[in-house]
Order: sequence, then structure tokens, then C-alpha cells
Amino acid sequence: MSLTYERYEFKKLIKELKGKRGRGTELISLYIPPGRNVYDVIKYLRDEYDQASNIKDKLTRKNVQSAIESIIQRLKLYRKVPEHGLVVFCGAIPQGKDRGTEKIEIYVIEPPEPVRSFQYVCDHEFYVEPLEEMAKEKKAYGLIVMDRGGGVIAVLRGPNYKIVDWVTSDIPPKHSAGGQSQRRFERIREERVHDFFKRLGKRANEALLPLEGELEGIIIGGPGDAREKFEEGNFLDYRLQKKIIANIPLSYTEEQGVRELVMKAEDLLKESSLYKEKALVEEVFRLLAKEPGKVAYGISEVEKALKAGAAEKVLVLEDIPVKKVRIRCPQCGYEEQRIIRKDREASLSGWQCPNCGGTVYEVEEVDIIEHLGEMGKQSGAEIYVISSGTEWGMQLKALGGVAAVLRYELREY
Ligand SMILES: [Zn+2]
Repeated sequence: MSLTYERYEFKKLIKELKGKRGRGTELISLYIPPGRNVYDVIKYLRDEYDQASNIKDKLTRKNVQSAIESIIQRLKLYRKVPEHGLVVFCGAIPQGKDRGTEKIEIYVIEPPEPVRSFQYVCDHEFYVEPLEEMAKEKKAYGLIVMDRGGGVIAVLRGPNYKIVDWVTSDIPPKHSAGGQSQRRFERIREERVHDFFKRLGKRANEALLPLEGELEGIIIGGPGDAREKFEEGNFLDYRLQKKIIANIPLSYTEEQGVRELVMKAEDLLKESSLYKEKALVEEVFRLLAKEPGKVAYGISEVEKALKAGAAEKVLVLEDIPVKKVRIRCPQCGYEEQRIIRKDREASLSGWQCPNCGGTVYEVEEVDIIEHLGEMGKQSGAEIYVISSGTEWGMQLKALGGVAAVLRYELREY
């Protein structure tokens, strides 16, 4: 997942689940890995149901058994566990302060990454840690560790790297002319270096180009100056070449060098996900200066652009200072929407339905990011959630906390 709306949505759901507490030890979290037989899981749950009859507290017993029963009913809808497995949270959540206000809530999630192991947890809160792990950003970086003796190509995802290829060189060490003239030896050596760089470049292209879409950057490292010569010589495909974000001197080569590079690059990598956000905001301001018609900003303008299908990318501040309320007349069904600042209460005193004149209304608050995300899905726009508290976050805030890059200019008629 990237910093897009899907990730925001997933994180929001986790946060919501995390905030829920049971009255007793009666909230069930169930992690089912891919490939597990649904009927085996149901059988397991029936055993748990029987076990629960030993629970002394009558209400807790009833709640646990109702939760298990709800899960079984839901699982029966699946013939097969989905590709990444299934995660189910179910339990009696108090809806008010009093005893007996609990209601069984159930959440069935098809996670973005495979569930690793089967887990059944019954506690006074939901067990969400494995989901939190999935929600963490796991961008990929290409690593090339090299000197004139050879090169290693690796892919880094989160804290884990994987070596994907080794390339050896047959470059003779310096000053071993062994009978040949020194000049001729140097020339041959240079040719072999060039050859090796070419091979390394080709193998790096083969390994990394298929990952181009998810690759955040490429980092080169190694002892000596070969790493610099390799970069300067453009031995990588131009698409990879422009992704190089650093070239770092190292003491080691081979796998030890890869480990050293990962350690040294850590700070750099932290900044690089932010770098993408920064580039997005910069793009908006560049367009504003040159082709202002290609940008919409402020919530109503951006909504208009999304509705028209003109928005290509939408940037929204993670704590956008406005919210949206939907006001509905229960008498005639009339609906209107208002955008209000988050720090102000929606002042609706004296509201009157323009349709039927009724003064009774229902209010529903809408999460703007979620709302934009839904609109984005329908119109094919990518939604990016931008960190606040950054320099570019402040810039976006000056535009009302939301801006869109348009596919074409939207004209007013
Ligand atoms: Zn009305």
C-alpha cells in the first residue's frame, strides 16, 4: 500500500477497532491464513462455543457464544478462504454506559497481505497487531553494492532485504602486468571494467525493471570509486537511472556490504517517502504558476472536478481543517450538505427545510478524506493523503487543505 486513500481507510478501520472495549473478556479476534479449510475453522469455533459454556459470568458467556455464532454464520458465506486469508473481529460492544446496552458487532476483513498464522483470541479488546504490521509502509528499494571485483543486486522492503542477483567480474588486479606492456595491460583492464559495468547494468535492469512501479528509489554503494564510475556511465536503464537517490561509500562488498548499505541508508529512506509527498505538492504549485487552469483547490472546487471526472490526482491534508455535514429533513427527505470548519460546531439553529418548511432535521458528519476517496474511486482519480506538520503540508493548508491536479482545464459555463 502506498500513501493513497486505501491505506488511509485501512489504518482508520484499525484505529476504530483498537478503540473498542468489551464489558468483559468477550471480544473475539480470528485470523485465518490462506489455504485453510473453512469447515475446519467452523468446527474449531464450535469447540470454542462448547468451551464457552464453562464461563461463570452469565452475560459474558452469552456474549461470547453469540459472537462465535455470528462468526460461524458469516464464515458459512465463504466456500473458500480468500487469497490473503480472512480476519474477523466480533464481540458485544457496549453502546452506552449501562449494562445490557451491548450489541454484537462483526467486522470481516480481507487483508491486503497474507495472514501468517491461525489465531483465535478472546480478550476484552480486539487483537489488531498483525493488521497494524500490514498497514505499515513497505516500499521497495533497489540496492546495488559493488566494486571492481563484482556486484550484488538486492531489493529492500521494510527492514528486510533480499539478494536477487550476483555478478562477478574477471578484472585482473592492478599492477600485475606479467610480461605485457603496462599500457596494453591498462587498456585491457579498462575494457574489462567497462564490460563488467555493462553486465552489472544489464542484470540490474532485469532484476529491478519488473518492480519499477513499486520501486521508490535505487541506492548504490561500495568501496572505492567503481560505484561512482558506474553511475556516471549510465549503465542502468534510464527509468532506473533516474530513480537513483544516493551513492554511498562503504567498507564492505557482497552481502556484508548490503547490510552496511541498509544501515547507512536508513535515514535517507525515511525521508524519501516524504519526498514523494513534497514532489506532489510542488507539482501543484508549479502548475498554479504556469497553468492555473489545471489545478482545483478548496473542497468545493475539488469536489466539482472529481464529479466531472477531470481530477487526476487529489492531495488532501491528513488533518484537513474542515468537515462535511449532511443535513436531512425526515419529513420530506430533502438533503443538503455543508462544509464547516472542524473547530466550530455546526450551527444549525433556525434551520428550516426549504422544501416543506419543517424545522426538524437529522445531521450526519462525513469524513472528508473518506468522501473524497469514494469519489476518487468512482472517477479514477488517485487520492494522496499528505502529512501535516511538514513544510509542504503547510503549503497545502494554505490552499484549504485539498487540491487536485486536473487532466484538462475545467471551464465554467
Ligand atoms: Zn422537508
